[in-house]
Amino acid sequence: MSSSFQSTTPEKRVHCSAETMPDFLKKYWTQRSILFTKYKEGILMDEEGWYSVTPEDVAIHIAERCRCDIIIDAFCGVGGNAIQFAFTCHQVIAIDIDETKLMCAKHNAMIYGVADRIEFILGDYLKLIPKLKADVVFLSPPWGGPNYLSAKTFDIKTMIPMDGEKLYRESLKITNNIAYYLPRNVNIQQITNLAGRGNTCEIQEVYINGKLKTMVAYYGELVDMDFCENNA
Ligand code: ADP
Repeated sequence: MSSSFQSTTPEKRVHCSAETMPDFLKKYWTQRSILFTKYKEGILMDEEGWYSVTPEDVAIHIAERCRCDIIIDAFCGVGGNAIQFAFTCHQVIAIDIDETKLMCAKHNAMIYGVADRIEFILGDYLKLIPKLKADVVFLSPPWGGPNYLSAKTFDIKTMIPMDGEKLYRESLKITNNIAYYLPRNVNIQQITNLAGRGNTCEIQEVYINGKLKTMVAYYGELVDMDFCENNA
């Protein structure tokens, strides 16, 4: 498989200073080194990147849990997770449908010195599935825009644009070892059911500064069975 990435995207869409940021994003400026500790070295993010990227500490933790040979970051965005996977996995396949985000991800991976362990692919993850092979798939799909918290319960089937249940089922064609990054108001029963009858799913709550931010669901061999059995 060869990378179809090309860094031809106009830089004007990539914000990297307080002055060039639109007003509605300025509140994220203070969080820049939480998102990327190497922010000052020239990290690039487009507008969505500022509110979508996984904070570095959280990405480090997920990468440790997903340690394996080949991992797919199916919706890599500006690279927060893919970069950390490159430290714990032999090879990372980082996919995104947006050329600007992929350009940022590649640039950011170079800053972290891990670009050589990441294969960047521009494309639609669902369409690429038949060609992909990996030990672990990390799913951090679109949550349908900033309104995802307005619903009491986040329904992955209807609120993830490509149907979050279908996305999980299709990913099983690659591997059972799936980590799924989801909003804090996600329907727990729904994500537990994905594991299938008789199988275990582990769900982690992610707190930042004492506030519940997101959930990560682990499936297949990513489930820490010792932890689950000791805490049952
Ligand atoms: P959010 O709702 O969390 O802001 P985004 O719309 O930013 O989510 O989507 C998350 C990432 O997934 C983005 O980087 C986006 O470009 C990417 N993406 C969306 N659809 C696909 C797809 N079908 N295949 C691969 N990447 C995709």
